[in-house]
Amino acid sequence: MIYKKFGHTGDPLSVIGFGASPLGNVFGSISSEFDRGLVAAAIESGINFFDVSPYYGLGLAEERLGAALQPDRDQCFLATKCGRYGVDDFDFSAAGVTRRFEDSLRRLRTDHVDLLQIHDIEFGDLNQVVGETLPALTVLKEQGKTRFIGITGYWPGLLAETLERHPTDSVLNYCHWNLLADDMDIRLTPTCERLGAALINASPLHMGLLSGGPIAEWHPAPAIVREKASEIVKLCVRNDVDHGTLAVWKCLQHPRVTSTLVGMANVEQVKSACAAVALQPPTGLLSEVEVIMHGALNIWWPQGRAENQECSFNEGIGR
Ligand code: NAD
Repeated sequence: MIYKKFGHTGDPLSVIGFGASPLGNVFGSISSEFDRGLVAAAIESGINFFDVSPYYGLGLAEERLGAALQPDRDQCFLATKCGRYGVDDFDFSAAGVTRRFEDSLRRLRTDHVDLLQIHDIEFGDLNQVVGETLPALTVLKEQGKTRFIGITGYWPGLLAETLERHPTDSVLNYCHWNLLADDMDIRLTPTCERLGAALINASPLHMGLLSGGPIAEWHPAPAIVREKASEIVKLCVRNDVDHGTLAVWKCLQHPRVTSTLVGMANVEQVKSACAAVALQPPTGLLSEVEVIMHGALNIWWPQGRAENQECSFNEGIGR
């Protein structure tokens, strides 16, 4: 495993992080008997960064991760979130995030987390996120209930705009820098660089499109994105390269990202992800991926409030 410093603080984070949404059965039901073995396999592979949310399985992922992580809690950097509690259940108020964070701590069996993030800010009123939610998180930081605070979401431009308006220790963006997209770099990457925020990249498999397995029913990607992902998977199979490993490898090539969060549902997927650290893709494979993706990179889907869609935040910014 390789470790990189989290922002200015010096906490060494594994470049591959454990995304715990599968523990909430987000991608299909997984047996709770495997939790400890799965988390232990991640720790054995050198992973020390764990990311969860009360939204994943409506508390189930936090409960399962909290129990599985208990013996190793002090060795791990534990992140959870607030503000999103269900598909359509949002509460970005100061009172709401403060009160419901206590439930997260209880489920996680700990008295503090390392990172508390606002979950999916594109579903909130940006003025409330900046003027009320982030100040509430700052209070929790001052109280020692979280060591760091951050924001997460789908739109990189919106995240950059928010960071400009209120400093945070980290920003988490997903599905905008991997084999199928690279537009995180238009505005978010340079803004994090300039303002000293750690950049966390999530969903290297584009929320499972590059897994080669069944796609989750709720997956919002349009048909063309699914087709391109499927072509990449087939290309990898023909070349005898693990597509999960290649997908994670691609994300590890980003020079500014601290850690890439992978949603691993079994021990094989932990091994497959961690093999990316030493992968040397066969000559020519990446050029073939480029040919597949020509003209099809960065195809978005609508997400969040109308006023928070990406185009509002990238005006005048060229590539
Ligand atoms: P992902 O791209 O990591 O894909 C996960 C899916 O791919 C699962 O079905 C998993 O079983 C499968 N998979 C994983 N490794 C595989 C491998 N090697 N081979 C084949 N299949 C494999 O998507 P994700 O889980 O959405 O993202 C990772 C994590 O990032 C999440 O668990 C979460 O912690 C975080 N995240 C946060 C936000 C947010 O805060 N807004 C959004 C997305 C993701």
